[in-house]
Amino acid sequence: MDILKEVTNQLGSVITDASFEGANIVLYTDNENFFKNGISDIKKVVNNLKKRIDLRAEETILMSEGKARKEIEELIPKDAGIEAIFFDASRGVVIIEAKRPGLVIGREGSILEDLRRKTLWVPNVRRSPEIKSKITESIRSVLYANNDFRRKFLNEVGKKIYSSWNKDQGEEWVRVSFLGGARQVGRSSILLQTPNSRVLLDCGINVAAKGEEQYPYFKIPEFDISKLDAIIISHAHLDHVALVPYLYKMGYKGPVYMTEPTRDIAALLALDLIGVNYKQAKAPLFNSKDIKEMVKHSITLNFNGVTDITPDVRLTFYNSGHCLGSSMIHLNIGNGLHNLVYTGDFKYLNSKLLNKASSDFPRVESIITESTYGSKNDVLPTRKESDDKLLDVISKTLKRGGKVLIPELGLGRAQETMLILEEAMKSGRIEKVPVYIDGMIWDINAIHTTYPSFLNSNLKFRIFRGDNPFLSPIFSRVGSMEERKLIMNGGPSIVLATSGMLVGGASVEYLKNYAENKNNSIIFVCYQGVGSVGRDIQDGRKEIKIDSEGTEKVLKINLEVNSIIGLTAHPGRSELISFFNNLKPRPKRILINHGEISKSMDLASSLYKMTKTETTVPRIMDSVRLR
Ligand SMILES: [Zn+2]
Repeated sequence: MDILKEVTNQLGSVITDASFEGANIVLYTDNENFFKNGISDIKKVVNNLKKRIDLRAEETILMSEGKARKEIEELIPKDAGIEAIFFDASRGVVIIEAKRPGLVIGREGSILEDLRRKTLWVPNVRRSPEIKSKITESIRSVLYANNDFRRKFLNEVGKKIYSSWNKDQGEEWVRVSFLGGARQVGRSSILLQTPNSRVLLDCGINVAAKGEEQYPYFKIPEFDISKLDAIIISHAHLDHVALVPYLYKMGYKGPVYMTEPTRDIAALLALDLIGVNYKQAKAPLFNSKDIKEMVKHSITLNFNGVTDITPDVRLTFYNSGHCLGSSMIHLNIGNGLHNLVYTGDFKYLNSKLLNKASSDFPRVESIITESTYGSKNDVLPTRKESDDKLLDVISKTLKRGGKVLIPELGLGRAQETMLILEEAMKSGRIEKVPVYIDGMIWDINAIHTTYPSFLNSNLKFRIFRGDNPFLSPIFSRVGSMEERKLIMNGGPSIVLATSGMLVGGASVEYLKNYAENKNNSIIFVCYQGVGSVGRDIQDGRKEIKIDSEGTEKVLKINLEVNSIIGLTAHPGRSELISFFNNLKPRPKRILINHGEISKSMDLASSLYKMTKTETTVPRIMDSVRLR
């Protein structure tokens, strides 16, 4: 029997409808008394099944939207600052957006419970963002406008997850195949297969590469897009997510799992990539319609919640400390048969922006780890040394009347750099000059303030207190080419601009103007991919060929070049070692990816010596049987 029938049978005729929302079971009732008091009956059923079950009221018994709105405004204290109320009648859910969600919820949820009993709507509370994010608003409106689609889609996802419920699973094996990001950085993508599931972990683009080398290798016989059950995205950087809209274009119709900030930032960066492609006179791989499909098919999860995603795979996201919403992916496969952790990109140190990555898991047999800075030589300076170097270079440059350009990835380090600059100017450590923010960064700041619960504790409380550092007057947003020209012709200043590797984007425009003046400085704070303009400059090239309005131009590099590796969002060698020292429980197998070959190999041999655990560095196209 299927699981929905089993639940409805146990509860009887008070249940008018039962459906799935992904892995959750949702029951509907038209019996007011059962809606108010039936929770204990449901708890009994839940205890038998160990599944999450939500109870909602049928549209026929819901209080009218007008009356319910009045009730909400009366019950919730004025100080809560309600900014918007959305009714989703087909699901019996009302979303309340407020400045102070705690006051909406009430002590131990008392206000919400009152609201539920009085109006029969199920209330959901959301913090209204301090800086409005256009992308978050448009994503929410896409989801809202497609309510009916979402209800059907989530029901279909649930049906697949529970398709072999209570059935013998038969044979047992687990294998992973590397489609990209193995013995290299960029185009990360791993296919996980079991007898019942095919799940893709990440699907990125190598922006520094050319031709086919940009994309994961989909031609391996194991990969069949029509048989893919789910995609899981670790974080929103292009080398992990940029190709997902393309998979929807190619006919994928299943879910993509990620955190809410990852969804919003991924959509923003994918839209930006289309623009960058057009500027480079390249045909984009996908268009905005495909990004919308990704959003419509997204299922967002918070950290530490366990969710079934296929009949034999259970997913949990853990904080990875790398960028907003970034996760380590824990997969419990075959009901405890095998547990796999894929670290994605992580940072094992607290930063001004984020808490450090988790190293505690319920179980781990295999782990796939990144190794960006995995070699013995990758001794990162301490945070303090790095901050000091950054501020010293800036100070010196400003004193000689120069301008500072910091190319940033948009997501992650740009916000960290902003926090360092804000603090340094406040304390008088560096001269107060305008800090210009160009490219994606501003929109991503807005997403940071939309999801403060993903930020580190200090910053979160600063934002809750109304002291949001991203709103400091030292920061100005650059909106047009005219404004850019004023900055280029103006006095000493600091520019933070995307892209981080000087591959298209605003940062290249500033480089063209700043490069030949030796008073200026460029400071690299993020990883520079092999083949990128940033890498060439970092490696000391004095002449760079650059694309200028369709024609190639040679740019003389006279400005001061600095790299501050200690500000990276990746773990340095000693962080990697301490992560594996602290990792609980001890894995039986370590697989190493996301690193240039020498770094991955070096880390592998050290980890093997240290842990005596089987350690391998798979190549692209390699498949490894985990169980
Ligand atoms: Zn990353």
